[in-house]
Amino acid sequence: MTKKSDPQRPTEAILASQETPIVRPRLNYTLSGIAVSPGYAIGRAHRIEQRRARIPRYHVEATAIAVELERLDEALEASDQQLADIKQKLGGGEREDIQILDAHRLMLKDEMLVGRTRILITEQHLNAEWALKKTVDEIKHLFDDLEDDYLRSRQADVDFVGDRIMRNLSGSAHPRLSQVHPGAIIIAHDLSPADTAFLLHARVQGFAIDVGGSTSHTAIMARSLKLPAVVGLEQITEHVGTGDELILDGCSGRLIINPEPEELAHYQQLKARFETQRARVDALGLKPAITTDGCRVKIAGNIELWEETALVQSSGASGVGLYRTEYLYMNRETLPDENEQYEHYRRVIELCRPHCATIRTLDLGGDKFINPLQLAREMNPVMGLRAIRLCLKEQDIFRTQIRALLRASAHGDLRIMVPLISELGEVRQVKQIIAECRAEVIAAGQRVAAEVPFGIMIEVPSAAVMADHLAREVDFFAIGTNDLVQYTLAIDRSNEHVAHLYHPLHPAVFRLLHSVIQAGKAAGIGVSLCGEMAGDPFCTPVLLGLGLDEMSMNAASIPVVKTVIRSLSLEACRSLVEEIRNMETTSDIEARVGSWLEDFLGDRVPKEIFDPAQHMSTLTPAR
Ligand code: PEP
Ligand code: MG
Repeated sequence: MTKKSDPQRPTEAILASQETPIVRPRLNYTLSGIAVSPGYAIGRAHRIEQRRARIPRYHVEATAIAVELERLDEALEASDQQLADIKQKLGGGEREDIQILDAHRLMLKDEMLVGRTRILITEQHLNAEWALKKTVDEIKHLFDDLEDDYLRSRQADVDFVGDRIMRNLSGSAHPRLSQVHPGAIIIAHDLSPADTAFLLHARVQGFAIDVGGSTSHTAIMARSLKLPAVVGLEQITEHVGTGDELILDGCSGRLIINPEPEELAHYQQLKARFETQRARVDALGLKPAITTDGCRVKIAGNIELWEETALVQSSGASGVGLYRTEYLYMNRETLPDENEQYEHYRRVIELCRPHCATIRTLDLGGDKFINPLQLAREMNPVMGLRAIRLCLKEQDIFRTQIRALLRASAHGDLRIMVPLISELGEVRQVKQIIAECRAEVIAAGQRVAAEVPFGIMIEVPSAAVMADHLAREVDFFAIGTNDLVQYTLAIDRSNEHVAHLYHPLHPAVFRLLHSVIQAGKAAGIGVSLCGEMAGDPFCTPVLLGLGLDEMSMNAASIPVVKTVIRSLSLEACRSLVEEIRNMETTSDIEARVGSWLEDFLGDRVPKEIFDPAQHMSTLTPAR
């Protein structure tokens, strides 16, 4: 965090609110956090008081257990009704915010949460609040060991739902979001996805919170709702009071408190330009991604739920390049059967027409992601029984998925992709299983496409090193840089303490990307990239120069990356790659890519949409 000038001027007017205003000198600060949803907001702060509900702890008599269970049921019912009311206010539909609210309602019926709380009341005679608190803590503890930062951040969802039930149990008030004025900028310790959805309804301009990361549900909701947001500010609630004048910069992660008049004027201009440009770039997302010298790049979308297919398509994707099917197995008590899976895959395939849907088989790890699979806890799950390793062990689950996929292939253009391949033997085993499943499906009288291309993710260094051999046995590669960087650099992708060392432009990663793409080309198979690197416009010229002509990314990145591609020339990207291929350090590569982008793009891509200089300033010196 950086503290700027300190003019010690008197506090300005404080917004009418039920909250106790904080009276203190007017200070001009700039705080830095994590930018999770781009855009600018200029206005007055509204700070949400969020004291956690008080938790009474006592043992109940055997005769009072039934009463305690009834109290729990009433609190669950009230919580469900509140979430249903919020959903209704938002107008329903299939947007991501609505889906998250639905997921929270499902958690109110979850055995792990509710069943366990009931057991603690019945068997240990704990009062309902204490039993609930213990259960929430136990579940969060299980989540601690997850290697996937997206899934780890689901701890917050358990917390939000637990807090809502607790407040209904103990009768303490929920945060007073209803007092929020339209146009306010929300300051809070944390916001649940339900709160975030409510804020949109209240027509706030954006929010800044103490905690969180870019893959928390709250961040995902903010992006889906196009609300500028900065998270991870650590102590923003200590610094800002209701009524403070703020500039929230969701592009760089800055929050300016009580800005100077010249800062205000500057940001008003930036905001106006951003909004005009965003509308323009969103429209550009629908144009093809072709470099100035005529190289066409295929841009597909990454999805976690079938419902997102339409969203990525409308953002300019040509089909789905990565469907993470494991989400279909989560938040439920039983595994999805073949028919249910078939329905989901069929919808994705049909919605992608005339483009292709690349559906990835299960990438689960250990017992940590889903209830129905009781697997042993592992010391180091990221290196453990994950993804294809788990599928080859639990073959019934894998074969069910493969049969569902093959049946769905009859409805359009499907490619089956397998994650975390580390050696050729696994590829051969999977191909054998697919052939057997095909025979079963046909024997059952069901239709299957004559050809279903089969590909693998290259995300383990051993697969990257052996890419020339692997390429001879598969139809395509999809490079998963999220894991490839993690395993190559020995940097846990979900550990914030080493996050500054995690970078896809490390020279070792560059070499692996180069050899994988070359191996794919030599064997005449398609190579795409579907890690987060694909959606980072800073890396775009490097990926094009390396010869990549297919990428898959989240919906929000599509218009930006397409706009950058349309301003680049393939020839210049190749020269850039020639220049950096012998560089020895990440910082040398990043510095050169940054200056090259600034020179090359000039004013062709509006700075509000992508500013290489700003990107460079967010890179940490430790690289
Ligand atoms: C990757 O590793 O880059 C990838 C796309 O897979 P996931 O993020 O689901 O592990
Ligand atoms: Mg991966």
